[in-house]
Amino acid sequence: MANPSILILAGDGIGPEVMGEVKKIITWYGDKRGLNFDVSEDLVGGCAYDAHGTPLTDATMAKAQEVDAVLLGAVGGPKYDNLDFSVKPERGLLRLRKEMDLYSNLRPAQCFDALADFSSLKKDVVAGLDIMIVRELTSGVYFGEPRGIHKEGNERVGINTQRYTESEIARVARSAFELARKRGNKVCSMEKANVMESGILWRQVVQEIHDAEYPDVELSHMYADAGAMQLTRWPKQFDVIVTDNLFGDLLSDLAAMLTGSLGMLPSASLGAPMENGRPKALYEPVHGSAPDIAGQGKANPIACILSFAMALRYSFNELAEADRLEKAVEKVLADGVRTGDLMGPEGGTPVSTTEMGDAIIAALDASL
Ligand code: NAD
Repeated sequence: MANPSILILAGDGIGPEVMGEVKKIITWYGDKRGLNFDVSEDLVGGCAYDAHGTPLTDATMAKAQEVDAVLLGAVGGPKYDNLDFSVKPERGLLRLRKEMDLYSNLRPAQCFDALADFSSLKKDVVAGLDIMIVRELTSGVYFGEPRGIHKEGNERVGINTQRYTESEIARVARSAFELARKRGNKVCSMEKANVMESGILWRQVVQEIHDAEYPDVELSHMYADAGAMQLTRWPKQFDVIVTDNLFGDLLSDLAAMLTGSLGMLPSASLGAPMENGRPKALYEPVHGSAPDIAGQGKANPIACILSFAMALRYSFNELAEADRLEKAVEKVLADGVRTGDLMGPEGGTPVSTTEMGDAIIAALDASL
């Protein structure tokens, strides 16, 4: 069988720096675990604009459609701030998400014990936290028609439409149930069925998909506002949360910040299964290109490395190897190895991006 294929799009700013550490880890898996990937690299964002006058060429888009997984660093930077909207670096990323039809956005909120003090919540509320927010990414109120700002009589009216089809709800629900089976086997679905018809349909369809296809998974429903309260009161009650585009936008940021630094947050965006059974997939850190620290060796590579761990789990079904990589990160943090963004008020000497990558590889070696 051919090796699984990965397209690396490191992008701009700290993107190439943090991706450099992921490349070392991919090599480690080939050398030490016999897990070989066919890796190709290409441009996205500002660097693609510099080379080709567009943030994503058609050829790169075609490659992204063919591979088993795309790993993306970050795009953007002040140099590109004044470009026309149509060629801004972010358009490259949006084109990838749209044309790959990545409807299921996975944002884990995981709190490593060693970093529990970084949370704004009490340590015992967040220590050991491991939840996953699944946000519908391609429909809902950000896309629904009619939309716009119109004149009605003497005043302007702003309109957006929350619209979900049954099949759009069903496919993201399936994505959440599949994930739950690889984790704690629990799904909580969040909407506002008390005040929104689209929420009533959301609740009905999620329940129907559960009853017909996933009766083994524990399912509960919660209003999204109550969900926000529960996430800050006792987040460990959740395993997988599935919700729509708008509520997911808010709840995933809320959940992420339970755990502290932006340099620690991975994400995955998944689409429909391809012929080989693997979902279309794009993995990327939540953070941007961090122009303020780019090129200085200060960036924390962990968000990008944990995004690769998600690829191991959700694209390549290498659950034990994903665990191994996450445990290596956990060990390094427990040993007190810190990039600048993870330094507490007590201070200390931060390690560089490459030193953090090397420490994680040493922990992987120690795990054998
Ligand atoms: P940012 O995430 O790039 O940075 C915010 C702050 O967090 C900065 O102080 C930065 O130094 C710090 N930070 C971020 N990642 C870090 C890491 N791995 N290690 C250590 N510190 C880290 O957000 P921003 O400053 O608002 O945006 C900068 C550029 O990135 C803009 O051009 C923006 O459009 C773009 N952006 C891209 C993406 C993406 O590629 N997905 C996401 C957000 C922003």
